[in-house]
Amino acid sequence: ATPMSIMVATGRGAQAGVLIRDAEALERFAAVDVLVLDKTGTLTQGRPSLTDVVALQDHDEDHILALAAALERGSEHPLAEAILGAAESRGVAHLTAADFDAVTGKGVRGVIDGQSTALGNAGLMTDLGIDPAPAQARLDEFQDAGKTAMFLASDGKLIGIVAVSDQIKETAAVAIRALQEAGLKIVMATGDSQRTAEAVGRELGIDEIRANVSPEDKAALIADFQAEGRAVAMAGDGVNDAPALAKADVGIAMGTGADVAVESAGVTLVRGDLRAIVRARRLAHATMRNIR
Ligand code: ADP
Ligand code: MG
Repeated sequence: ATPMSIMVATGRGAQAGVLIRDAEALERFAAVDVLVLDKTGTLTQGRPSLTDVVALQDHDEDHILALAAALERGSEHPLAEAILGAAESRGVAHLTAADFDAVTGKGVRGVIDGQSTALGNAGLMTDLGIDPAPAQARLDEFQDAGKTAMFLASDGKLIGIVAVSDQIKETAAVAIRALQEAGLKIVMATGDSQRTAEAVGRELGIDEIRANVSPEDKAALIADFQAEGRAVAMAGDGVNDAPALAKADVGIAMGTGADVAVESAGVTLVRGDLRAIVRARRLAHATMRNIR
């Protein structure tokens, strides 16, 4: 591409809310045939709020929320903000946890009032020797509604469930449909559960879903598509998306997300509006056509 046509395209992109780092990012974009999207903060707004608290034993809901909030005080996960915020506004954020530990991709644990306490997914419960099965059906219900649901355990027993919901971005469905019509395969990759991912994926008509995925798995998924000869774009907002953004043929960061995501990506959506991906793709094609 001529420097002039690249400049024109990047200038138009910037006006439309897409920052394109260099000519290579633009050229590679024109060839992309798979788009992998992170869920939380990319397809959804990334501002979850608490929706449900269930007390499984003879505790009350406020106590369950108080324990969950005490554990989340040490976490920087968006889930933590939702749970702590709700506990504060209900006036039950009065407990503190000792020996706090964040288990990446699984949850949080600590000691509250001398009891070992944990909040997180089924994997975390299993790691702690607690069978999640007795409460699994309750959890599944929340997940089938697209919510992120977590088990709370204390002293080796399941005692509660906490669920949060993160709204899907209003413009996500339109953007995905346009990209599918342009021939792209759309894949969701998330650390969240299969059921939650499927509920969100169904609503958006996503072609393929990969759930319970670690940051390394996200990068490996990109590499697998590349090994099949496909050109892959990856869109994400989080620190845990950075390896996949760097691995992709085109990394697309949300300007609303983590700095390290933006630094790992060749393209940034200033306002996190996924429709800007459609625009960037059109610009890439128009620019490439001009040179040929
Ligand atoms: P995502 O890709 O959606 O950001 P993560 O990989 O960070 O997900 O986490 C995967 C799952 O682990 C979450 O859906 C949740 O069940 C559990 N989890 C992670 N961090 C926390 C936390 N701070 N509190 C409770 N649960 C957590
Ligand atoms: Mg995210």
